[in-house]
This record gives sequence, structure tokens and C-alpha cells, in this order.
Amino acid sequence: MQYKRSHALFAEAEKVIPGGVNSPVRAFNAVGGTPVFIKKAFGAYLIDEDDNQYIDYINSWGPMILGHAHKPVVDAVIEKTKLGTSFGTPTEIETKIAQLAVSMVPNIEKIRFVNSGTEACMSAVRLARGYTGKDKIIKFAGCYHGHSDSFLIQAGSGAITFGSPNSPGVTKGTAQDTLLARYNDIDNVEQLIEANKGEIACIILEPVAGNMGCIPPKEQFLQKLRSLCDANNILLIFDEVMTGFRLAKGGAQELYDVVADLVCFGKVIGGGLPVGAFAGRSEIMDCLAPIGPVYQAGTLSGNPLAMAAGLAMLTELNSDKNIYDRLAEKTAYLHKGCEAILNKHKIPHTINRIGSMISIHFSDTDVVDFETAVEGNNDRFKGFFHGLLKGGVYIAPSAFETWFITDALSYEDLDKTIAACDTVCSTL
Ligand code: PLP
Repeated sequence: MQYKRSHALFAEAEKVIPGGVNSPVRAFNAVGGTPVFIKKAFGAYLIDEDDNQYIDYINSWGPMILGHAHKPVVDAVIEKTKLGTSFGTPTEIETKIAQLAVSMVPNIEKIRFVNSGTEACMSAVRLARGYTGKDKIIKFAGCYHGHSDSFLIQAGSGAITFGSPNSPGVTKGTAQDTLLARYNDIDNVEQLIEANKGEIACIILEPVAGNMGCIPPKEQFLQKLRSLCDANNILLIFDEVMTGFRLAKGGAQELYDVVADLVCFGKVIGGGLPVGAFAGRSEIMDCLAPIGPVYQAGTLSGNPLAMAAGLAMLTELNSDKNIYDRLAEKTAYLHKGCEAILNKHKIPHTINRIGSMISIHFSDTDVVDFETAVEGNNDRFKGFFHGLLKGGVYIAPSAFETWFITDALSYEDLDKTIAACDTVCSTL
């Protein structure tokens, strides 16, 4: 593979864009080298500016669950574009996608659309504070909820990759209202609640963590959180930006049969356009402006093109009865194949998988929280990443990310991926 044009484009980008990228995880800082510039994508594949082709496991960090340039989504956007791109008024399509989302996800009655997952989580927390009249929140180390100030306290994703979990610019005042708990450790949460009796507005978490690699919740962890919230008048917020419409039609609430008070969405719900949303019972959602006092707004929120992409995506997912089984089967196949290769090469590892989310951790201890996630051998990951890239397989350039499986992947693609894994593992 040669990357001549990507290198040249990155050099140009660095002159006018900080670090040459518009989101830090896109840079190759964690793995070394310079990022590959992509010019187009279709199905399960990415094509870069030097015409190298890759099997894609990033999938735009989650949204492309049905593959790139999926025809119904692309067609819906093209048709909508012809009618004008933004009006700043209510449009019928916003209600249509809201109705569909509410019908697919359990326990939500109303949904508000925003432009990103960050906005969704930030707004959900403001709403929880407004509704409960309390200030503090509990988040979990290694969970990422976007780059809003309150969440940049031991966040996952790029914030771990870059080794600066507490970003400069986040004030002490903000940080002191965010209490940090250990993922999968219910006793720790209980202690925090006891120590801050009557002060906690909400607990926010990724019901399956995806930003310290993939870490599923331990048996009953989510149920016990629900009980603690009920007993202490705390709202439970599921950040389903990654898991929503990916693990099941109704996301983690459906998969684990647990009720959240507020749910945040992003990624899949926008079909690849910039969309986020947060949702819950009417009693809580009606505290939002314009009918309630909790302010939240957006010039481009509910944008017709974004709604068209999202509606097309959700319609497809809603009508395909086997989609989630198919995705889980493909992911299990990849798991089995990679596991056999890692065993063959005697490389210590732990593979975590749930539905169409999977991650390989280069450590042989169980990976259940942030502390165990950072134990992985990062140097080995770097070699693994670059070896796969050279072999035409594109995974996220960070050990703390989940691989996203798309329905566009064929079993032949999975076999090629396993073969590329074999080649790279023989060099690690
Ligand atoms: N929440 C989770 C679980 C995420 O994974 C992300 C992004 O990766 C976000 C929130 C933030 O979403 P966005 O990048 O759209 O702002």
C-alpha cells in the first residue's frame, strides 16, 4: 500500500486544522503514523485517496450499521435535498421519525432531536438536573458521553487515548459536580450515593460500554442501578449513542430488560448525518422549553436532510426481522476466528463481544472496567493496527474503541479479516 496522496493531504490539513483533523480520534497519535484520507465508501468498504481499499470496522464510529452509501438512505437524502436544506420551522418528517423511534424503543414517550451525541447527553443531564432540582451526577470512569465539560472527567475514547482525561478548560466547579464511579461495581455506586445523600440528580452510563473497548455490564448491574435510582430519587440515564438501534431495535433497555428514565441517541439514529436525540417519559420530557423551564434549542436540530437519513435508516431496521440476529452471528464468527488465531500465536488476549460490538484487548485478565481496560498491551495494539491496515482491514486507531460490525460485511470479508489477523499476529 502506498499513501502518497494521504500524506500530502494531511500536511495541507495540518496547516489550517488543529492536528489536521476535526475530531482527535481520527488522528493516528495513539498508534503512530499519519491518518489515511478516505474519498469514498460503499457497503463494507472504504477507499482512500491513493485508491487503497479496506474492509471497514469503524463504520464512521458506529452509524453505518447497514453499510456505507446504503441506497435507501442515500436516495432519501437526495430527494429531500431537492426541496431545500433547512427551514428553521417544524417539518412533518420530524414527527414521523419521532413516532417511529418512540414505537421502536421501550419506555420512551417523547423524543427531542439535536445534532450530536454530545448535545444529547449534555441536554439529558440538564433536564435531569432541572427535573430533580439536584446538581450532582454520577458517571463511570472510562465511559464517554461526548465532549461537554461535565463529562470530561476520566472519559473514555479519545480522552484516554490522549492521556488527558481531565481536559484543561473544565472548571473545578464543574468537575466537583461530577462524581466518578467504577463501571460494573455496584458497591462503589452505593457508597457515592450514601456520601452525597439527596444531592444526585442522575446516573449516566453507557449500558454497554464502548469507549474503553467493548465492556458489557455484569449480570444484574443495570438492574441494581435501577433499584438504587428508585430508592434515592435519582434519574437513570442510558447513553445509547452507540448501543441505540444497534444492539436491538429498543437498544440496551430491550436487550437487558431494564427501564431507563432518559435515553440518549446518536450515530445510527442519524443514518450517517449529524443527529443526536434524547427521550423519556412525557412527565420528564415536558419540562423542556417551550412548555417547561429547562432550556434547550438548536438552529439545525431536526434538519430535514438529517431526519430523512435517520428515518430511512430506522425504517430499514424496523422492517428487517432478522437484522440483529444476522449482525450477532457475523460478530460471533469474527470472534471465533480471531480467537483461534490469537491462541495459535499464543498472544495473551481477552475478546469482549455483545451483539455487533466487539473488541480485542491485549491482556489476559477479564476486562470489566477502566482499570482493567488500560492494562492491555498498547505497543502490541499498535503493531496489530498497522498490520491490519496494511492487510486492507481498517479498525479504529486506538486500543480503547469498539469494532462495529455492519450488515454489509460478507462471510468472505470476515474470512479475509481473520486471515489478515493471522498474518499480523505472526509478526507481533
Ligand atoms: N456517547 C457515546 C456513548 C459515544 O460513543 C459518543 C461518541 O462516540 C458520544 C456520546 C458523543 O457523540 P458525538 O460524537 O456525536 O458528539
